[in-house]
Amino acid sequence: MDIARTPSTADGNPELADAAIQPQSPPTILREDYAPFPWLVPTTRLEFALGLEKTRVTATLDVERNPDAEPSPTIRLNGDGLELVSLECDGGECDGHTMDGDDLVVTLPGDKHTLTIVTELDPSANSQLMGLYASGGMLCTQCEAEGFRRITFFPDRPDVLSTYTVRMDASEEQFPVLLANGNRTGSGKSENGMHWAVWHDPWPKPSYLFALVAGDLVARKDSFTTKSGKEVDLAIWVRDGDLQRTEHAMESLKRSMEWDEKVFGREYDLDVFNIVAVSDFNMGAMENKGLNVFNTKYVLADADTATDGDFDAVQGVIAHEYFHNWSGNRVTCRDWFQLSLKEGFTVLRDQLFSQDMGSAPVKRIEDVRILRSVQFPEDSGPLAHPIRPDSYREISNFYTATVYNKGAEIIRMMRSMAGETRFREGTDLYFERHDGEAATCEDFIVAMEDGAGLDLTQFRLWYSQAGTPKVSVKTALEGSTAVVELTQDVPATPGQDEKQPMPIPLRIALFDRETGAHRGEKLIVLDEARARFTFDGFDAEPVLSINRGFTAPVRIERDIPREDLAFLAAKDDDPFARYEALQDLVVGHLVEAVGGGLSGTDRDSARQAIAEAVRAILADETLDDQMRGELLMLPSQTYLAEQMLVADPGRIFEEREGLKAWLGDKLASEFNALYERAAAADGGRTAQASGARKVKTLALSYLAASDPKRAEKLASDQYDSADTMTDRQGALMVLSGLEGAARTDRLAAFYERYRDNPLAVDKWFAIQASSLHPDVLDQVKALADHPDFTLRNPNRVRSLYMAFAGTAQGFHAESGEGYRMIADLILALDPINPQTAARFVPPLGRWRRMEPKRAALMKEQLERIAEAPKLSRDTYEQVTRSLG
Ligand SMILES: [Zn+2]
Repeated sequence: MDIARTPSTADGNPELADAAIQPQSPPTILREDYAPFPWLVPTTRLEFALGLEKTRVTATLDVERNPDAEPSPTIRLNGDGLELVSLECDGGECDGHTMDGDDLVVTLPGDKHTLTIVTELDPSANSQLMGLYASGGMLCTQCEAEGFRRITFFPDRPDVLSTYTVRMDASEEQFPVLLANGNRTGSGKSENGMHWAVWHDPWPKPSYLFALVAGDLVARKDSFTTKSGKEVDLAIWVRDGDLQRTEHAMESLKRSMEWDEKVFGREYDLDVFNIVAVSDFNMGAMENKGLNVFNTKYVLADADTATDGDFDAVQGVIAHEYFHNWSGNRVTCRDWFQLSLKEGFTVLRDQLFSQDMGSAPVKRIEDVRILRSVQFPEDSGPLAHPIRPDSYREISNFYTATVYNKGAEIIRMMRSMAGETRFREGTDLYFERHDGEAATCEDFIVAMEDGAGLDLTQFRLWYSQAGTPKVSVKTALEGSTAVVELTQDVPATPGQDEKQPMPIPLRIALFDRETGAHRGEKLIVLDEARARFTFDGFDAEPVLSINRGFTAPVRIERDIPREDLAFLAAKDDDPFARYEALQDLVVGHLVEAVGGGLSGTDRDSARQAIAEAVRAILADETLDDQMRGELLMLPSQTYLAEQMLVADPGRIFEEREGLKAWLGDKLASEFNALYERAAAADGGRTAQASGARKVKTLALSYLAASDPKRAEKLASDQYDSADTMTDRQGALMVLSGLEGAARTDRLAAFYERYRDNPLAVDKWFAIQASSLHPDVLDQVKALADHPDFTLRNPNRVRSLYMAFAGTAQGFHAESGEGYRMIADLILALDPINPQTAARFVPPLGRWRRMEPKRAALMKEQLERIAEAPKLSRDTYEQVTRSLG
């Protein structure tokens, strides 16, 4: 393949690259410009003559005028780097056609026509992994958001729904398995070792849900009987040799199908459900109707190669894609501005599923942790956007934590306000009303108002205003009345200077200091800039527990005495609130310490209070280890940086690691005892066993900070005797941050053991790239030259560089070398895979929130990228937005 290929802005078309239309400023697309497409495409027939280097596509489209749209004498068929071999209208010549950029515009005089379009592709040259591409000898597709236009000319927009029939012809030896959407309606052998298959999907769908897979694959097969008694054949297709790692994925699929029937009343609607695992994949997985295509990372799992976290991730992603069958496929999006309609809702659905499958409080804490360390920084930076954006240049850049995770939080708020039963009435109405349609976020809101009985007039602001609201809390006792005074402030974000107050539902409880009990939870809704809530009958001022269960995605700011936080950390009966109190205790101290405003005695007393709280958690027998592990985790480097107007990553790292070492030392005997207990626990895949593994590695990380020699010994022993990837990876993570032979030996041993397993080799790269080792920068540089490193595989690129972009001592090294490395990566990757390249821009985009020296170095690198000729639309948009 050719690295120096024309980048995607030019769409592989040399004419376009040289034209005066300046690939550097791609057009901005506005939500308000939406207009229905002038043509309907009721049926689409696709014939593929498949080959790795040459695939010929014959597309036959029946088109007719859309009575609900402004009439047009032409039809615009989107293309992206396509070569038109031939075009026919109604079996003969067309009245006229022109190319407009990469699009094909055809003149259509009548009301109904049949278009036949032939294109030719080279899947082996498709390094963007969008459209039809080759991956390890097989062929597969990725069409969301705009990949279908890289296969054939088509109105490639989600509101054009069509019924697809797909025929594939291929060499039987090379591609024994031929899959597409829907049900298989025919297959057979032809001459010269060729064979064919026809698939028909009875459900009209947009082009982004089209999929095809051809390859030498084997399947784990199973079946599921739906609630109305329909038998569905299930299959998970992988390479020979990976079959024994698919059991967990299959079990997860069956659990998802059952759960969606029970909790959302959604039943599956085809005779077959296929999942295919692919190693080269930009995203996690894709919900193509009846044929989900997955990154191998989210399918393959066994104890030897996957951690407990990987098992959970497989279950979550399998569920997510399956749930899209209704929230995404049966009801799809009108346009890409509505992406959160399917993603926010489906993320919420997969979160609720995972809550039900394991520990609900632990899952909630994990989800909030992700929101805070990924979405909050997005919301306070140059790339901030509402969950329903108003404009974009490249839609791939809006597959963000805001659209997904904050989108889920916003629907979760509706659920909190309506209650579970009424929420379900709302979702039932939504599915019933919009089944078979391309809908909008507004349609969802109206269904919630009508079905769940909510008034969401003001709540709509959550869809249009970006930024994480800040809620300031003051409490007082007036006579026997407890007063809670709340003020909200939605910060200005790019393009949105003025904000209006939003309804913020907060679950609260007031604790009696003496008894440690409260009189029941209440849900209050703050819907003005400032409001007072009063509660009668208190002799003494109660302790306020607020935003219990994290009912609203906001920051809470309050002046609360350390004793009260310690009280909540020990006594709160809401697990999330308890976790939060402990985090606040630590965050409060670290922010102060980093700011330099702490005397020696203040530091000691703050650390002492934290140590007491941690000691209580270590001793609390009512906690299970899963929860204990959550409580023992210190707030992340990024979350801490988020708490400061101007961050100094070096200082944060120093103080955070300093606290860890101090706690490890102070509580050495407790951590040692915890380690020994956990190390002696039973193995297996029970919640208890995985909880033990979780606290074991956490204890080890505290000991590593305080007593590296002892930790080195423990971690080496843990590595040598490990019978799960969780233990092996945990030990190696600790060792990779230390000096010495134990580190080098175990890293070499891990590589030897797993060198033929790409997902495990990804871990090997990531462990080193994210390590606490002071030389991480040079190590990453050396790893980039490792024979197993390649820019062609997104998992591999992320495992090295995304892990690195989170390190304080590497990425944020004072010399600026870390920033330069990421900028070099972006420039090298952009021509190969612009979508993945653009995902590395946000870490540099945080420059405005950094101390001046680092800020200047980061900005310099962004400017260097911006000046590069022929940047992709993806990277160009992210870099210019980041520079502001
Ligand atoms: Zn999704």
